[in-house]
Amino acid sequence: MGGLVLALALQQRCSQHTITIYESTAALSTVGAGIGMVARVWDVLRALGLEDELLAVTGAGNSASAEIFYSAAAKSLTIIARRSVRTFHRGDVQKVIVNHLNDIDSVIQYSKRLVSYDEPASLGEPITLHFRDGTTAACDLLVGSDGIRSAVRRAMYERLAGEAEKTSLDRAQELRKVAEPVWSGLVAYRGLIPAERVPAEDVEDVSKMTIRLGKNKIVVSYPVMGGKMFNLAAFVGTSDDAGTLYDGEWSRPATVEEAYANFEKWDPLILRIMKGLNSPILWAIHKTRELPTYAHGRVAIVGDAAHAMMPFQAAGAGQAIEDGFVLSEVLAHPSVTARTLPAALAAYDTVRRPFAHAVQRASDETTETYQLRRAGWEGVTVEESAAGGFAAGRLAAVAEKIYGMSDWALRSGIMDDSRDVRELLRVLQEVNAH
Ligand SMILES: Cc1cc2nc3c(=O)[nH]c(=O)nc-3n(C[C@H](O)[C@H](O)[C@H](O)COP(=O)(O)OP(=O)(O)OC[C@H]3O[C@@H](n4cnc5c(N)ncnc54)[C@H](O)[C@@H]3O)c2cc1C
Repeated sequence: MGGLVLALALQQRCSQHTITIYESTAALSTVGAGIGMVARVWDVLRALGLEDELLAVTGAGNSASAEIFYSAAAKSLTIIARRSVRTFHRGDVQKVIVNHLNDIDSVIQYSKRLVSYDEPASLGEPITLHFRDGTTAACDLLVGSDGIRSAVRRAMYERLAGEAEKTSLDRAQELRKVAEPVWSGLVAYRGLIPAERVPAEDVEDVSKMTIRLGKNKIVVSYPVMGGKMFNLAAFVGTSDDAGTLYDGEWSRPATVEEAYANFEKWDPLILRIMKGLNSPILWAIHKTRELPTYAHGRVAIVGDAAHAMMPFQAAGAGQAIEDGFVLSEVLAHPSVTARTLPAALAAYDTVRRPFAHAVQRASDETTETYQLRRAGWEGVTVEESAAGGFAAGRLAAVAEKIYGMSDWALRSGIMDDSRDVRELLRVLQEVNAH
């Protein structure tokens, strides 16, 4: 998402640059599930001229205001919160962005898995990219939008660690450690349910965005593709496992029976709707630690490569889109030349990193709250939470906390980030002129 948005925004803003996207897979995959977008992200897509097409393709309607129903372990107690978020199928959003890219066949090169890069100290010499197939390519600027297991991040932090080694072995070790993603302690059974497979008695329920909260368990469901499909993600976790190494594949095919075994004591509705899942996948939910930089020399990282986060603020794809947009603002600025590129990328880092980290932290805290480990629910056991029967006020306390954690989405807009980055670059231009 971050890479595609950056490429499109660059084509629109500074067409003199040649852009190449190196993608490890043989084709852009349209698989995936639902993603949610808050107003800040929508502003980016609107600025790129994609709004009407997205609304038409996804049938998302014009309303950005979703009602979220919070329910404790799927028992009768429900409260409603309003959040300004649009929901889409990931593949739909990707398709719309790609359709707007010019010269797509030469822009995207498939089956090119980056392994590492070499960046000469001299700004006049190109960066060399090394791919797994043994080939190389050259570029003036490298942006890693290669997801949570980013090869660019790993290579960048290896270089940073190598430099740090000259003065502090501890610092070098820290830099190598911080570059490695960690397991959150949660797994998610995730997939899409075709509308025709939802029992009639449950249609009304799945047509609403619903987040069911239980001790160490969360079930999220909402409609995508104009209601033709429903997105379901059922999370299971323990706090003991957070930060450990996940023993197994990060994602693999799962079965409904395996997923449901974790929710047996919950409302039977969960089993009924799970039965409709199309090929559920088990995802071990990983995240990155807070990185000390998103840029080094003429190389930057965006999206999950820079800040993979827990999914409960529905923010990961949106933050990747914001990064791509702000970075395009930087690269289109008249002050940016081969000589000023490292300082310009540092401006991107200065503006984006604190914001993305705040969203990462809000996502972490939401994860704890949804698993009923906050807001007065700390002492509630797995069995008690499944049995339900709580007073309405207890769930309202959870909702209140959730509102507080979501305010990053309203505090400022993406155009504020764009303005801040332009201001930093203006100062840079003045410094260069003297
Ligand atoms: C359960 C769950 C629910 C989520 N819900 C939401 C939500 O509601 N809202 C939201 O905004 N986000 C959500 N997310 C997060 C979102 O999916 C990610 O944050 C987003 O996809 C990150 O985009 P990206 O462009 O950084 O990376 P990715 O989408 O991971 O793309 C990386 C690309 O790089 C390619 N690649 C990888 N390595 C290499 C290499 N070495 N060389 C070349 N190419 C490479 C990959 O094939 C891929 O095409 C959710 C995530 C999960 C797990």
